Amino acid sequence: MDNKNHIDYADELDILVRHDRRAGFLNGEFGDFIGKGIQLFSFGGGILRTILYNILTDFHAKNGYYVIETPIIASTRLYKVSGHLSYYKQNMYIFNIEDEEYAIKPMNCPHHILLFINLIEKNRKIKLPFRTFELGRVHRYEVSGSLYGLLRVRGFTQDDSHIFITMDKLESEIEKLIFEMKEIYEKLFNIKFEGESLTIKLSIHDKNKMNEYSGSLEDWENSVGVMRRVLEKVGKKFGFSISIDIGEAAFYGPKYDFKIKIGEKEWQLGTIQLDFNLPRNFRLRDLTKEYFGIEDIFIIHRAYLGSIERFIGSYLEVFNGRLPFVLNPIQLAIIKVNTRDEYIDSKINEKAQELYLKLKNEDIRAVVIESSKTELSNVVRILESKYKPSIIVYIGEKEINKGYSIRYYNLEARKVETINGDENKLFELIEELERKVFDLNKKKYRLFEDFNFLFE
Ligand SMILES: [Zn+2]
Repeated sequence: MDNKNHIDYADELDILVRHDRRAGFLNGEFGDFIGKGIQLFSFGGGILRTILYNILTDFHAKNGYYVIETPIIASTRLYKVSGHLSYYKQNMYIFNIEDEEYAIKPMNCPHHILLFINLIEKNRKIKLPFRTFELGRVHRYEVSGSLYGLLRVRGFTQDDSHIFITMDKLESEIEKLIFEMKEIYEKLFNIKFEGESLTIKLSIHDKNKMNEYSGSLEDWENSVGVMRRVLEKVGKKFGFSISIDIGEAAFYGPKYDFKIKIGEKEWQLGTIQLDFNLPRNFRLRDLTKEYFGIEDIFIIHRAYLGSIERFIGSYLEVFNGRLPFVLNPIQLAIIKVNTRDEYIDSKINEKAQELYLKLKNEDIRAVVIESSKTELSNVVRILESKYKPSIIVYIGEKEINKGYSIRYYNLEARKVETINGDENKLFELIEELERKVFDLNKKKYRLFEDFNFLFE
């Protein structure tokens, strides 16, 4: 264990540019130029996010969502209709161009609804539930004193989905959502999504204070009934801890919040929320009534990771900077353990180069590092404390004519393990570390980038 926080880890893994690092020639700190609460992602963050986005996009497309993309800026007329201008203005960045008022998007929902309306107006035969998905970047004002690394930011990306649905489909849909969430956590992040360490809180209305909520008491009672039934059912099935919080619902509808405790750390995961408010503000009920004869249309807002930034930050803290193999910027390091014998060293070199090219050919992000025997433990220590490759392969005198000494990090058991073996064994290990993600979408997620310059 060390005392590093997620900013230290994210800096060491080149996930982001640290705000408090000096940019000497610019006469300031990087944060002065980036801006408070905004993160500049470096190449480690770039590759991690790209692969994560690919996995999430494929997963959603495969599971009945339509992948869309909304702009960062919108006319404030959109937020007038949605109601954001009246209840969320204090968190929005608003500005004028040519006498028109614009806002930087604080939430993705209004755009998703516009898109749904457009589809109905055009096609008039959309099948419900209709599900949108977007890795949507939003910006919200937060007071500067509360900002903290990736955990509290002013700009972030949500794995955001909106589901347009009728009451009779609600129960099976919410169950589907919880199963999908479980899949993603277990297969992508090795987080066990069952048992008492996982808490689902259902926040509901207080029927004595209905003036604080939008929608009728009947709307509330019906939807809370559904959410409560699903909660009890899946809670029993997976042994989750469940709780119901009266009076804690958002004014627009009840919601689930997922929390998990890993070791000493409790961590907020995604949410699933039901909404009667936005369908009314956008007159969706009138629209679907006219076209389909359907009046009871709801919107489910859901995000499994929530904010991608906060999720990465929490993950780094909870797992001490260790990332799953597929997402790890440097997946594998080959260490050439040199002797002082020129002939032997040339053989070591040859073998290392051969392996490196094979890995590169398979799109595994590998680097080659040189070390003497006496420096070896120091080199490994620095490598482990900073770049944290998932696998380290040693090639020294012993390994010239035999297999490799392989050391890898077992994220599930949270410990380092060692094996000996040839190339086949190494590739078996790699596939084993990729296996769960492969199961998720039946696809390998490999993308080579050359990080050797870090070690030259
Ligand atoms: Zn939403």
